[in-house]
Amino acid sequence: MMENYKYKIDRQKTQFSKPEIIQSLKEFHEICGKDTFGMREYNKWPSRIATSETIRTRFDTWGKALLAAGIRAERSCKLELKEMVKHFKLCWQENDAVPSYRQLETYLSKNKLPFRVNSYQNVYGGLGYLAKLIVQVQEGQLPEEELYRRKNKNSREPISPTTRMKVLKRDNFRCVKCGATPKEDKSVKLEIDHIIPVARGGLSKIDNLQTLCYKCNQGKKDNDD
Ligand SMILES: [Zn+2]
Repeated sequence: MMENYKYKIDRQKTQFSKPEIIQSLKEFHEICGKDTFGMREYNKWPSRIATSETIRTRFDTWGKALLAAGIRAERSCKLELKEMVKHFKLCWQENDAVPSYRQLETYLSKNKLPFRVNSYQNVYGGLGYLAKLIVQVQEGQLPEEELYRRKNKNSREPISPTTRMKVLKRDNFRCVKCGATPKEDKSVKLEIDHIIPVARGGLSKIDNLQTLCYKCNQGKKDNDD
């Protein structure tokens, strides 16, 4: 027997923290390259942090776990978003001002709600952006449905082929940053970029789109992240 042995239970081995699970879900989301994924798909991933069943137990539902990681959940998503918006509005009324990070955090924990401020940021790209949407809906500038659509870089709106062609034509088939064009250099690959990133509420409208070459677009993405 060791006299000075320190007895301790390593909780990490039996239970992962929520941030660790969220991180793992995000990693799988990147790898699978799909909008959303189910419990079965995640379970097949050899590097998973825990079984989907364990994760579901920790977060109450699989949908809530995905939502916490900022990933669209197949079925429960819209209901969850409605709840989130409802509580954001209540918190707004309570404070008589657009809730700050701290105020919303206090409100959510006081009312024992299953989502966090991070969930709002993941879904809406920021509290200020959600506040703007709410005002726009109130003033009839936006349909209410817009509130329940994710504005996240993982679920970007597709750019239609017509819009793509209009943007390319407007920009003379040249990268607006460096001027590269496939007409002069066959290796140049042009892409359509959101000037205001989708994650910050940018729309797939012509005014918000520009032609960039692959290289310039990669550079921009690194700065945006
Ligand atoms: Zn370029």
